[in-house]
Amino acid sequence: MGSVTRTVIDEIAVEVRRNARRKTRIGLVFDPAGHLILDVPFQATAADIKSAVVEHKRWIHHRLRVLKDEMRDQPISSVVEDGALIGFLGESLRLAVTDGSGRAKIERVGNRLNIRLPEGRDLAALVRRWYRTQAADVFSGLLVRSAQLPWVDGVPAWRQQFMKSQWGSCSVKGRISLNTHLIQTPVRLIEYVVLHELCHLKHMNHSPRFYGLLQKHMPDWDMRRRELRKYIPVLLRG
Ligand SMILES: [Zn+2]
Repeated sequence: MGSVTRTVIDEIAVEVRRNARRKTRIGLVFDPAGHLILDVPFQATAADIKSAVVEHKRWIHHRLRVLKDEMRDQPISSVVEDGALIGFLGESLRLAVTDGSGRAKIERVGNRLNIRLPEGRDLAALVRRWYRTQAADVFSGLLVRSAQLPWVDGVPAWRQQFMKSQWGSCSVKGRISLNTHLIQTPVRLIEYVVLHELCHLKHMNHSPRFYGLLQKHMPDWDMRRRELRKYIPVLLRG
């Protein structure tokens, strides 16, 4: 798709993506992890890139401030331990850990997640495994439903993984990857990410036609996209 370089312009860290499809304009976006990405045509010079950043400096600084504030508001614990709050489908669950022998066990009771932790087992790893199972249920349910969309031919090939910089992606072969961390966000936001990736099965880009398709099937997609930003700290935790 092109080359990626990281650089600093006017004390702002940027990632420059050279893109053959881009003809003239330089595009600026923040990825879910809060990195500023510049989509740049192949023939753009260093001066062109610098002036794009300088021209949008106010906007960039505003966005960086907003992202920082949003992170500060995160109620979720950063350490997984007994009594900690962890995110699940937009709610918080309190971990209640008991030592035990035999098999590890996790059971959700209301807003508590009861965990029996055998000696020597890693709690964080156990919680991640639980997230994976829950995510598998929710993701596959949404993808099965998506097979009704006119351009989707059967349930698409997909997988989940913990990712640090994106909520989802779609390969050129049409294989969808979803970030397991999504299971911490409300279902409506997961629906948005799933639909976004499904729209890539028809349009392998972010063209107006891509957004047209998204808009048609989810008129409030942009609101959901913005809501998802609140969960960026979840991604950064890795
Ligand atoms: Zn996309």
